Amino acid sequence: MKILVIGGGGREHALVWKLRQSSRVQQVYCLPGNGGICEEATCLPGDPKSLASLLSAAHQIHPDVTVVGPELPLSIGVVDEFSRRGLRIFGPTQKAAQLETSKSFAKEFMQRHKIPTAHYAVCTSEEELRKSLGLFSTPVVVKADGLAAGKGVVIAATKEEAAKAALEMFSGKLLGTPVTHVVLEEFLEGEEVSFLVLSDGERVAPLVPSQDHKRIGDGDKGANTGGMGAYSTDSLLEAGMAEWLVNHIAKPVVAGMKSEGAEYRGVLYCGLMMTARGPMVLEFNCRFGDPETQAVLMRLDSDLLDAIEASIDGRVSDGDFKWSKDASCCVVVASGGYPGGFVSGKQISGLDKASQLANVKVFHAGTSKRDGVIYTNGGRVLGVTARAPRLNEAINRAYEAVRLISFEDMYYRKDIGARALRAQK
Ligand code: AMP
Repeated sequence: MKILVIGGGGREHALVWKLRQSSRVQQVYCLPGNGGICEEATCLPGDPKSLASLLSAAHQIHPDVTVVGPELPLSIGVVDEFSRRGLRIFGPTQKAAQLETSKSFAKEFMQRHKIPTAHYAVCTSEEELRKSLGLFSTPVVVKADGLAAGKGVVIAATKEEAAKAALEMFSGKLLGTPVTHVVLEEFLEGEEVSFLVLSDGERVAPLVPSQDHKRIGDGDKGANTGGMGAYSTDSLLEAGMAEWLVNHIAKPVVAGMKSEGAEYRGVLYCGLMMTARGPMVLEFNCRFGDPETQAVLMRLDSDLLDAIEASIDGRVSDGDFKWSKDASCCVVVASGGYPGGFVSGKQISGLDKASQLANVKVFHAGTSKRDGVIYTNGGRVLGVTARAPRLNEAINRAYEAVRLISFEDMYYRKDIGARALRAQK
């Protein structure tokens, strides 16, 4: 079979790597891919944000299955367009992707279907904002509607700060483009867990849980990023919790979407806060997470293409995934200065040595390849991922591999998974 993967980050490298392990896959294409992906797939030029570009690539190569990595193509209706033309594609339609693309839709949907989430208010004007702020205590969370690549959430210590952030979201000062809806949300405390399920519109099959590290600095300090590392281990969830999450969150979401005429197929990513009042949904994403996917797929022992086809064909079952009991850890290596300004084009060395370590896979995110040499080409550059029977071993192995890699101004967090290790003691 011929597979087309859309996207060019670490998540897409992990998808390409895993799909290539399927005995039924003959060829993998990736649009646009990156320096590392090009070593494992045929990279196609094109713009993943343009439907015309994606359709033209599909007409050229006739993929048997297309797998969408990032949210943007989903938000502009790539699944609708491909399906209309009889092309098999994995992911939700534009309407179903609203669970991620509109925070106000997601909150109102959760309220309609009694899915546990933080108290909230949707505001569309300064007047509404001032009134609603009176109903919240501090800290209060301010969220912009729409895709904001992790920059649309502000945790405000005071109401003045919350009002300032919300007004800057309305005016466009904060995100570059104005938003019409701002969500105020109760601040929740607890451990965050990324809980993903595969859905065929009706049935769901859970993936193993993982935890992302969103802040740039050790100890969860500093600016929000796309994600600086992740780990996955079964002990992230207490016994029986995965089943509870399937029955009280994943299944009601999928049933609710179906009842509202927006059948949800693909991966449903539930970002959860495990609070004293029980698990609460912070956000939904309509695709695999990045860098969680790198950690999660490292533990997958079965055929990813089988699972993806089960979602497309409407036959998802619990047996779609076989998971290793091992733990995994992905350390993101970034360009110095990220998530602010940074300089690309630095030569990366040590990649071969790092890749030779047992049970290590170096996924490329922002890289490019010229004349056989790999250069940095983005903020998040690599996702160095390891798997081992115990979490501490997986973490040590990932850092051992990271230390073999170097480029000018390379930056990475030193504490990926550290909180989980402290909790295990
Ligand atoms: P979101 O894009 O909604 O997942 O928000 C990004 C990050 O902001 C989350 O991963 C949390 O760390 C934090 N966050 C979002 N909502 C809340 C909340 N209600 N309470 C505490 N932290 C939150």
